[in-house]
Amino acid sequence: MTKYIFITGGVVSSLGKGIVAASLGKLLRARGYSVAIQKFDPYINVDPGTMSPFQHGEVFVTDDGAETDLDLGHYERFTNTSLHQINNVTSGSVYQTVIAKERKGEYLGATVQVIPHITNEIKARLQMATKHFSPDFLIAEIGGTIGDIESLPFIEAIRQFRLEEGIGNSISVHVTLLPYLQTSGELKTKPSQHSVYVLRSYGIQPEILVCRTQIPISKQEKEKMALFCSVQKECVFECKDMKSIYEVPLALEEQNMAGIALKLLNLKDKKPNLTSWENLVNKIKNTKNEITVALAGKYTELNDAYISVVESLKHAGLEYDYKVNVKWLASEDCKNMEITKELLSDVDALVIPGGFGVRGIEGKLNAIRYARESNLPFLGLCLGLQCCVIEYARNVAGLVNANSTEFDEHTKTPVIDLMTEQKNVAGYGGTMRLGSYPCILKDGSVAQKAYGKKQIEERHRHRYEVNNEYKKILQEKGLVISGCSPDGLLAEIVEYPKNDWHVACQFHPEFKSRPEEAHPLFKGLIKAVKNQKLRKNKQ
Ligand code: GLN
Repeated sequence: MTKYIFITGGVVSSLGKGIVAASLGKLLRARGYSVAIQKFDPYINVDPGTMSPFQHGEVFVTDDGAETDLDLGHYERFTNTSLHQINNVTSGSVYQTVIAKERKGEYLGATVQVIPHITNEIKARLQMATKHFSPDFLIAEIGGTIGDIESLPFIEAIRQFRLEEGIGNSISVHVTLLPYLQTSGELKTKPSQHSVYVLRSYGIQPEILVCRTQIPISKQEKEKMALFCSVQKECVFECKDMKSIYEVPLALEEQNMAGIALKLLNLKDKKPNLTSWENLVNKIKNTKNEITVALAGKYTELNDAYISVVESLKHAGLEYDYKVNVKWLASEDCKNMEITKELLSDVDALVIPGGFGVRGIEGKLNAIRYARESNLPFLGLCLGLQCCVIEYARNVAGLVNANSTEFDEHTKTPVIDLMTEQKNVAGYGGTMRLGSYPCILKDGSVAQKAYGKKQIEERHRHRYEVNNEYKKILQEKGLVISGCSPDGLLAEIVEYPKNDWHVACQFHPEFKSRPEEAHPLFKGLIKAVKNQKLRKNKQ
């Protein structure tokens, strides 16, 4: 029988509820339990796919092609699982289902209301995830902050669900902030107390409190929180700011959070196996050598916009004993080759991540050109592949006006063009080529050697593709198409084998990198950096 853990947040947003959910998931998995994690987002968009990364951060794509919240990336990375459309529920998707049922006549005669129709649909989503995964634990994280108007139906649905599932089958974990007042040198508990009062006024008494804090919480402060929030003393946990998010599960394990959660759910504790995670954290703490990778994108003011890319770089860095620093580069700043050279002169590698629209494209092309001409290791992701092909077409293959129809609808040299199946697609929500597709690698290519196999599956999110009409000339001029869809029609990986690492892919490998298992393409990039450094040291 599945047990439920509901995670809410108090006082402020961006508390790291997703990391707490993922960490608890990790600790339960380390005890041999199966875990599924579901995110409930209160906004009205059906999914985050149509939102600007500035609003929402990265859109994380699952194998089954769902465009989801970036917290699902944390869930996958911490619990090493592959999630599904059902793992991300938004108010928009709930309302969409309820309104569609109303139009079909499924509620004939009834007035359709938030309670019970919307709350029933929310509960149905919890049941759907339970049915799909049959997990020992379903952890459900509710986005937003307690007190927000828009999250109310979710909280009400949880209240009902907990009653229906029976006492002892679910717990509520409230993640909250203890602000530190520098002037008086105190941690303040009052905002958290108020947040718990509000949660209680909705009918939910949390069993566990996770207190986010900059400094350690004293025994007295924990006891005060317990007393005022009506929580057992042993159920108040400290969650301090950490250098690495991967330290959080271990910090919570030290306080026996999973053991206590199991006790509250009337289950026996088991000895966790965290050896490999401990090794990972030790490696993170002890890695001294540093390298710098330039990430040239459009949303560089908001680091969350490229969170999976940054994590993938860190994972691969660790494999080669490097701490990876990211140099955020607004691609628009690479105005000409001289400036680009200067901006890239102090980096060890270049990554061009995914993106949409024409802003910053010329700067990206300059950056890739510099990387190609100076043998700076380069990895292009999705839009990064498209720019890599345009750059090669313009500067090597002599197609000086090469472009993508995304950036210039009327270009005479569309080396990148809308995919055939996209030509009649109307609307923007969920209409791209999304999710996992197979790709066949060319024997002996750089990509094939990196993966060490012939066929791979990777996740996609795009509308445009390399135009087959230009493949021949690009190949004749030395660009290798090293990965293709099984029917041979879609170029999925391109590479320039003369450089140490000049590889770009149409998919998003960053969604499949794991802290304990770095992705082959990111590893290839960092390995090239390492080899170049070793060579330089020998000279
Ligand atoms: N804008 C490009 C396309 O739609 C690339 C998308 C991306 O980088 N995810 O094909």
